[in-house]
Amino acid sequence: MCNSCKTLHEKITTLTGHSLIKYEEVNSFPTTSLMQAIKCHHHNGENREFYCSDHCTSFCFTCFLQDHRRCEHSERIEKVANDLNQSVRIEEIINRIEKQQKSLETIHDHKHSTLQALNEERPKLEAEMSALIEKINSHVLSVIDETGNLLNTEIKALEEDMQEIKKDIEKLERQKSDINLVSNVCSHSKTFLFLHETENILSKNEEKFDKMKSDCNLVKLIVSVSDNMGTLLKNITNVSIDRTSAKIPSSSNAMIPTEVR
Ligand SMILES: [Zn+2]
Ligand SMILES: [Zn+2]
Ligand SMILES: [Zn+2]
Repeated sequence: MCNSCKTLHEKITTLTGHSLIKYEEVNSFPTTSLMQAIKCHHHNGENREFYCSDHCTSFCFTCFLQDHRRCEHSERIEKVANDLNQSVRIEEIINRIEKQQKSLETIHDHKHSTLQALNEERPKLEAEMSALIEKINSHVLSVIDETGNLLNTEIKALEEDMQEIKKDIEKLERQKSDINLVSNVCSHSKTFLFLHETENILSKNEEKFDKMKSDCNLVKLIVSVSDNMGTLLKNITNVSIDRTSAKIPSSSNAMIPTEVR
């Protein structure tokens, strides 16, 4: 409506209970919360008309008749509202709201700094984990290296032994033919001495070969993985969050409602 309609509207006595809202404020006006505050919660369609300071509550006429008729401080809302210094009360409540806001902001800031700390922690943890992988990796690699060296040493020794044995076999073969050669060509006495010498060599051989036989073990390479491995891996996978109670400034007390009046 226009300004002249507004003036007229305010003069009509049956309409004095109506509130005029600026057109551009219609959408932002808290109509729903206001209606919630005005309507009686127990009686549909009834408005709250009374306030009882004994019960700290407001209600409709039906409620008044039912529950607060005998209350000492049960009065009409208009009277209570007029008696109250509303601007002081508005200031008080705005202060209380701002206190709660401040307190929530402090909590928000605290959570934000925790979030930042966690984000800063992430690359450090990842680096630690990578270092761990590197450590385990190089350890296993060195075990593989050591295993290879051990195997090579063993193989080399076996190959040398085998070459040595081959030589001994050839030597024996030569001795066989030597005996034939000597016995065919030489005198009995010379052959006798040669055979005696050969027997001495054979006796020494027997001693040597018996020892070789007893040293001839079946060799097996064993890489033992420690039983601690399981514990080690379990320790690495134990990931947890540590919570230490933080000191938030005392302004957060605003969250605890203080007694009004
Ligand atoms: Zn008009
Ligand atoms: Zn009611
Ligand atoms: Zn009451």
